[in-house]
Amino acid sequence: MSTATTSDAVIKPDFAAQRKHFIFNEHHDQLRESIGRFVEKELAPHAEEWEETTFPDSVFKRMGELGFLGLSMPEEYGGQGGDYFCNLVLAEEITKSNSGGLAMGIAVHTDMATPPVKLFGSEEQKQRYLVPAIRGEKISCLGITEPDAGSDVAGIRTRAVRDGDEYVINGSKTYITNGHRADFIVLVTKTDPDAGYDGFTLFLVDTDTPGFIREKKLVKLGMHASDTALLAFNDMRVSANAVLGEVGKGFYHIMWELQGERLIGAAGCVAGAQRCFDRTLQYAMERKAFGRSIGHFQVIRHKFAEMATKIESARQMVYTTAWRFNNGEYPVREISMAKLHASRIAVEVADECIQIHGGAGYMKEYGVERVWRDMRLNRIGAGTDEIMLDVIGRSYGL
Ligand SMILES: Cc1cc2nc3c(=O)[nH]c(=O)nc-3n(C[C@H](O)[C@H](O)[C@H](O)COP(=O)(O)OP(=O)(O)OC[C@H]3O[C@@H](n4cnc5c(N)ncnc54)[C@H](O)[C@@H]3O)c2cc1C
Repeated sequence: MSTATTSDAVIKPDFAAQRKHFIFNEHHDQLRESIGRFVEKELAPHAEEWEETTFPDSVFKRMGELGFLGLSMPEEYGGQGGDYFCNLVLAEEITKSNSGGLAMGIAVHTDMATPPVKLFGSEEQKQRYLVPAIRGEKISCLGITEPDAGSDVAGIRTRAVRDGDEYVINGSKTYITNGHRADFIVLVTKTDPDAGYDGFTLFLVDTDTPGFIREKKLVKLGMHASDTALLAFNDMRVSANAVLGEVGKGFYHIMWELQGERLIGAAGCVAGAQRCFDRTLQYAMERKAFGRSIGHFQVIRHKFAEMATKIESARQMVYTTAWRFNNGEYPVREISMAKLHASRIAVEVADECIQIHGGAGYMKEYGVERVWRDMRLNRIGAGTDEIMLDVIGRSYGL
């Protein structure tokens, strides 16, 4: 009979071990390190200033030079040819900028406006828009929402009417991220109001086209480093070559786009929540009350336990769904679940982190209140909680 040594018999939990997820390999680790280094060195130091001014366009140029704007784009268009997980790495690491607005402005470009150009664009459109977008020389935005139609995408009124070799576009879009700085817009229009879901068409439009009007810069609760625009289109004439994808199939094209947008938003929520958790954990170790660190009160300890469990559950949903997405599946139900859950827990975590900070949590100086304000958008943008619940419920035939 063998006698177990002390080290064999006393198996201890590995709380300090790095928990690497199976979707990431060494290449992703290296990418994570290089993006993280860049974000901490070149972006984070400006976070406060950019809350006042919005972040400068030069961030796109710099990220283009570093190859960060086309991580999963084909190499023939200047991309890095990586997998979808590279986009997750970017979404996670950019939270180190401490600027939700910056992260959103970049994500709109990399994961919302340019993927439809890659998937549906003609060769000419890819050369004209995708290549400079990946280089950071052209900035993009995405126009779905209108003053009278947000959740109800099918209710949009922006009309594109064919006139010879051109289309004439009239209408407006609101809450458009990057709308002021963008060089081009992926624009959702109605081309046939009587054709139901088959009456929508996407266009790729240069923002210097006559009739493209930047009406207003909108003032927001959070995400201050991003610019948000109200746009109008007044007899804006574009060539028929500006159609992106198929005429009449724009609704399906944009529903596809929204899945990537929701998943990357969910990844950002998890990473942002984790960051807020980490900073608050440090605070709870240092802050003393009644003769001990506040983190050692059972009430506070349990708050951390609840937050960690929420973050971990959302992370697993995001990673597993991303794995399915990367494998070519179209897991709309799971993406909706991940988006719903990650957005909710991020706001809950940010709220609890403010509570644990006490008065300091309410002060701008500590940055926690900003996380709450920035995160709050995620329960609304890219499809509200209620719409996610509806998509999930309907997926069961209800
Ligand atoms: C900062 C910011 C940036 C944004 N960036 C962009 C962008 O770049 N491009 C873009 O196109 N859009 C953008 N949006 C718009 C965003 O996607 C919409 O605000 C969102 O989809 C909700 O639409 P809405 O604001 O019109 O709300 P509404 O659709 O008017 O909804 C109002 C309320 O009614 C609920 N509701 C609506 N329909 C239902 C239903 N069927 N069942 C139950 N409840 C329902 C909603 O959940 C919500 O609570 C941005 C928004 C913000 C705030």
